[in-house]
Amino acid sequence: MLKKLLGFFAQRQEAQRGPHVVPPQSHPLEPSRISRGARTVVETLQDHGFQAYVVGGCVRDMLLGLNPKDFDVATDARPEQIRKLFRRSRIVGRRFRIVHVMVGREVVEVTTFRAAQEGDDHPQVVRTEEGLLLADNAYGDIDSDAARRDFTVNALYYQPRDNTLYDYAGGLADLERRELVVIGDPETRYREDPVRMLRAVRFGAKLGFAIGPAAAAPLPALGHLLAQVAPARLFDEFLKLFLNGHALATFQLLREHRLFEHLFPDTAACLAAGDDFAERFLAQAMTNTDLRVRSGKTVTPAFLLAALLWPVVERERKSLEGKGEAPALALQKAASRALLRQLERIAIPRRFSLPMREIWELQLRLPRREGNRAEHLLALPRFRAAYDFLLLREASGEDLGGLGHWWTRYQEADEAGRRAMVEALGRGPKGRRRRRPRKRKSDS
Ligand code: ATP
Ligand code: MG
Repeated sequence: MLKKLLGFFAQRQEAQRGPHVVPPQSHPLEPSRISRGARTVVETLQDHGFQAYVVGGCVRDMLLGLNPKDFDVATDARPEQIRKLFRRSRIVGRRFRIVHVMVGREVVEVTTFRAAQEGDDHPQVVRTEEGLLLADNAYGDIDSDAARRDFTVNALYYQPRDNTLYDYAGGLADLERRELVVIGDPETRYREDPVRMLRAVRFGAKLGFAIGPAAAAPLPALGHLLAQVAPARLFDEFLKLFLNGHALATFQLLREHRLFEHLFPDTAACLAAGDDFAERFLAQAMTNTDLRVRSGKTVTPAFLLAALLWPVVERERKSLEGKGEAPALALQKAASRALLRQLERIAIPRRFSLPMREIWELQLRLPRREGNRAEHLLALPRFRAAYDFLLLREASGEDLGGLGHWWTRYQEADEAGRRAMVEALGRGPKGRRRRRPRKRKSDS
């Protein structure tokens, strides 16, 4: 179908400027595949005399046979006008104002057509001397809106009512070639919004598309611009990059294009120093996360973030212990320092950084199972995550003396079995604490 559509499209390419209009019989989309919410929004806007299209990732994904994550709508109605039409709606964003319209349980993102960006000096478009866009709220028409989108495959507009597809930037051809092509001059577009570099990687990993040569070339030299992006926005991007079922591919692409070091500088330094354990550990963490996401299980960002910073925490902890710090305190300090430095880049909310610390701290406590400690540990809310983390360390080649296996068996055992396991540890009877310092196996 896509082939047929491209043939059609190639004929027209020479003939006209402006959008390539693809009529119903020449593309595989169907109005029924658009969510109810998006259709309602488009139709309501049109009924009130506005233009409205379904646009962006959902059109791209549907053409690729994927299920869109959500639906975006573009319109010539202003945010205030959109607000008036939909009772359950609100304006969000400052740098880039959009309207969230709630239809049932669905949230549809509605964006007003933007004006072209390059070379304009509109008061609603504010940029720094380096070209960073601080505000992009100048409104325009659909042509200018298409021109300010990031990649050609993201500038496809679909009209569910007449079942027509509009290609403004040659995105259909790039979709067929499976290549990400930046609209306009890549370097300028990345300078305007450095997050577009991360988006290139995200779509590369998620769609399996090549990041085209022109799109890829500026990346290594411009990665430092990510420091200009608000840490809170980078946290949102982090979630999209790593929790979409393609974390491993994303991680590899980020490193290949020299972007990872600007997101996780300390982790990147560990990897650059040849930390083989970190290599295996992170690859394993990403693989496990992807497996979980793809099989519909829940994943918490805290776990993956704890993994991403673990090599940093361990390096620091070992150095502190080398200076005579007690293990528990060394770990606490190492955790605080690693987190503090990371927060300069990515604003990890406390609801995730606290569990991260707990996962790390439990790595010290899981070897200490004597008396009723094992039972106590098992009852902790963070036990499961800490246990999974422990298994990950072992799967990555760390020798913990079979600790993970012990905990696996312990969880499966009945009460008598558990008691026997604890006693077999060679410690005193249940409840008695002996204070013989044990060499931590994880140090070996
Ligand atoms: P997905 O929803 O699968 O993550 P998407 O392409 O829909 O991918 P969104 O972040 O939902 O991504 O954005 C919707 C559309 O808005 C994009 O397809 C693109 O056209 C445009 N867009 C989003 N972010 C940017 C940006 N930083 N610069 C330029 N255009 C953007
Ligand atoms: Mg989207």
